[in-house]
Amino acid sequence: MDLDVSVLTSKIPSSFKIPPNPPFSKGGTLERCLAKPSVPPFLKGGLGGIFRHLLLPLLLLLTLSACEQRPPVHQQQVLALGTLVDISLYDVDEEQAAQAVTAITNEMEAVHHDWHAWQPGELTYINQRLAQGESVSLDAEQQRLIQAGIALARASDDLFNPAVGALIALWGFHSDARPDAAPPNEDDITALVQAAPKMSRLQLEGGRLSSPNPAVMIDVGGYAKGYAVDRAIAALRRMGIDNAIVNAGGDLRAIGSKGGTAWRIGIRHPRQAGVLASLETRGDESVFTSGDYERYFEYQGQRYHHIIDPRSGRPARGAASVTIVHSDATTADAAATAVFIAGPKHWRETARQMGIDKAMLVDEAGTVHMTEAMAERVHFEVDPPPRTEIVP
Ligand code: ADP
Ligand code: MG
Repeated sequence: MDLDVSVLTSKIPSSFKIPPNPPFSKGGTLERCLAKPSVPPFLKGGLGGIFRHLLLPLLLLLTLSACEQRPPVHQQQVLALGTLVDISLYDVDEEQAAQAVTAITNEMEAVHHDWHAWQPGELTYINQRLAQGESVSLDAEQQRLIQAGIALARASDDLFNPAVGALIALWGFHSDARPDAAPPNEDDITALVQAAPKMSRLQLEGGRLSSPNPAVMIDVGGYAKGYAVDRAIAALRRMGIDNAIVNAGGDLRAIGSKGGTAWRIGIRHPRQAGVLASLETRGDESVFTSGDYERYFEYQGQRYHHIIDPRSGRPARGAASVTIVHSDATTADAAATAVFIAGPKHWRETARQMGIDKAMLVDEAGTVHMTEAMAERVHFEVDPPPRTEIVP
């Protein structure tokens, strides 16, 4: 197996230290040349007749000689968004690579700073105002993220519900490490569920945000990573970089390819070390996974994870992980969370409502539920392959 991205670690071990100036490492096995030269994409469509006949042989020659020089995949890890972000850039020079890494880090850190759920910052201020029944002014960027959250919540029938911050805090996930202590008590959970915090109760008018329901407490943990990855990719595009992966702790968006060879992505196994399946990205695709193994605590032999079903106020049951493949990362991230909560019985409906056609849910028994479009793309990397249920 020769993966560009192994989606194996998403937690940073506490002993991990990132070197101050990590050197670029060339992509090792990724640098192998194509056996057959590929036709550059821009030639496939537009150019015809004489140009094609004159230019094609020349370009193939150039491709071949470029191949001999092995355009490298630059890979670098940076610490951003509180996670390890893996950046892969195909065929860029050192200077471009350094600029790209800086731009990506800046974009992601801006999101991290503005939207941290509990470290005092923009979001804690916004939540404080909402809890007091006051309005708060948002800049254009903040409005975009909130508006995206409102739309995604609506599409998921509020299974994806970034207004449930108070519940997430109640479960103890608004801290860096949740101790293995008792879950919250029944009455507190019920009270917060009944307070019905919903994104649809937010009003955003003339740049001011308010809510008549003071129980609304925004937590963008279910889609901020996707949003940050989208911003990072947009920054790369502005720099003219069209072949790259931005991988934030296993959730990623890949654009372009390695000179015509697709990026290969590994999807983590929710119940054992290593990869469950792989897939090759096509063009511009995001691959996002939500899992019950990402953040959790254990109490009296039971695991309580961080994806909260807003209907019960408790960790969602039934799924071990959900992987979504979709064009933009913001939607993929939110959909992974929503489809996880929908669970093995209703996942397809939620995915459809959110405009997702490539979804995969691994249930608690290990059965893999997939859409046909997803089944066409994934290749299992475990032997024997898991039991699968494929639906249109
Ligand atoms: P991961 O990628 O870490 O597996 P997700 O993308 O599913 O996780 O996001 C989980 C985070 O989303 C939680 O830590 C919390 O901040 C937030 N969250 C939990 N439940 C919900 C929900 N029902 N709707 C929206 N966000 C949620
Ligand atoms: Mg998510």
